[in-house]
Amino acid sequence: MAEVGTLHEALVDELKDLYNAEKQLTKALPKMAKNATSAPLRQALISHLKETQTQVRRLEQAMRLLDEKVEGKLCDGMQGILKEGNKMMEEVEAGPVLDACLIAGGQRAEHYEIGAYGTCIVWEKQMGHREVVRLLTQTLNEEKAADKKLSKLAESGINAAADFGMEEEEEE
Ligand code: ZN
Ligand code: FE
Ligand code: FE
Repeated sequence: MAEVGTLHEALVDELKDLYNAEKQLTKALPKMAKNATSAPLRQALISHLKETQTQVRRLEQAMRLLDEKVEGKLCDGMQGILKEGNKMMEEVEAGPVLDACLIAGGQRAEHYEIGAYGTCIVWEKQMGHREVVRLLTQTLNEEKAADKKLSKLAESGINAAADFGMEEEEEE
């Protein structure tokens, strides 16, 4: 039995999926940061954690603006990406290689989100939900920036970054 019959319902479904995906990420990012050796990488993950918490709030606002109940729906896609990430953190020894793998996993998550937000924004535009478009475009831009930052860290050579990271024994 189909439960989604209109584009509005499809949009709400996507927002619930994203809401759950972002919440999963707020739980995963601290562990990823803890496993990072490179200080710049750790910083990038922690700063994206803060953005992600804001993104959760924006989705709540978006659902309220649409007069929908604020609730999530298990995001299997993000769960799969994070499951792979967890396996990787168990298997790879801390250091430059794990850092490279953390970037790879982080970028998978960002790309998933970029795809999902991009779709939602197109649909919201079609349905004239301008305030929701405005909100989620802020998030989409943060996801793109986070992805770019991770690319730069990968390109800058994680070895140099790893050396830098080992000198400090972590403040908050
Ligand atoms: Zn609508
Ligand atoms: Fe996000
Ligand atoms: Fe993100």
